[in-house]
Amino acid sequence: MTAAAHPGTVSLVGAGPGDPELLTLKAARLLASADIVLHDDLVPAAVLAHAERALIINVGKRCGRKNLTQEQIEAMMVEHARRGLSVVRLKSGDPLVFGRAGEEMDALRAAGIPFEVVPGITAAFAAAAAIQRPLTDRRSASSISFSSGHHAPGSALQPASLSGATRVVYMPGHDLHAIAAQLRSDGLSPGLPCVIVSRAAQPDQQILGTTLTDLDRVAPLPAPSILLVGETLAQRQPEAVDSLAECGPAATAAAPPLTLGL
Ligand code: SAH
Repeated sequence: MTAAAHPGTVSLVGAGPGDPELLTLKAARLLASADIVLHDDLVPAAVLAHAERALIINVGKRCGRKNLTQEQIEAMMVEHARRGLSVVRLKSGDPLVFGRAGEEMDALRAAGIPFEVVPGITAAFAAAAAIQRPLTDRRSASSISFSSGHHAPGSALQPASLSGATRVVYMPGHDLHAIAAQLRSDGLSPGLPCVIVSRAAQPDQQILGTTLTDLDRVAPLPAPSILLVGETLAQRQPEAVDSLAECGPAATAAAPPLTLGL
């Protein structure tokens, strides 16, 4: 394969949580003009539909199924760009959050391929929007932490010192019990509200509210799902209750009962 006089560009693009209306205008424009789209499993067809003229290749890895190694994906990006093509590397959510973008940018830099990064709406923000709760609140949470549940059990999810933070656990997997145990051993109160949001911003979105204690007894929701833990999840406006269902006790005496639902 011959290299073009000028290499094409690679765009590392965030696809957002799945609703095509949550794509950025820039993401939609880059998809529409791309020659090649290399996408992960979590990117739905409705988003890929924006890539009208591109060759679309699923390079995702799901549940241990490995089509391509990370190195092969990086080699594909470099190879297509060297042919002068416009390559979109499309990742769910934001490309810089649990997306191996660091390795891919290293590979592009090493190969001298120009690239840009286009942010997307990360799953944490889609989940918070779905449940209509803030991730920060001046009364109870002044920081947010994003962690991966992928390595649980055994690995510490968070330093215990992070009190007053809303915890967001990506890739909680099936071992919610281990995650709950880890969070409790980090010093979090057993009564803290927890919410699992499955397939946020997608038509089959599901929401389950509980507490850290009761997380042990919860069956995992369909993937992809994300776990949120923190005081702010119990807050709600009184007028917003009509479509909500009881899900568990509140974390503090001041907070109203935790009620969540679709
Ligand atoms: N870059 C992505 C995260 C990729 S890691 C982002 O910024 O969102 C994959 C994990 O993201 C999933 O296991 C799940 O925890 C979360 N995730 C991605 N899309 C989701 C969605 N629509 N609803 C809930 N969780 C989602």
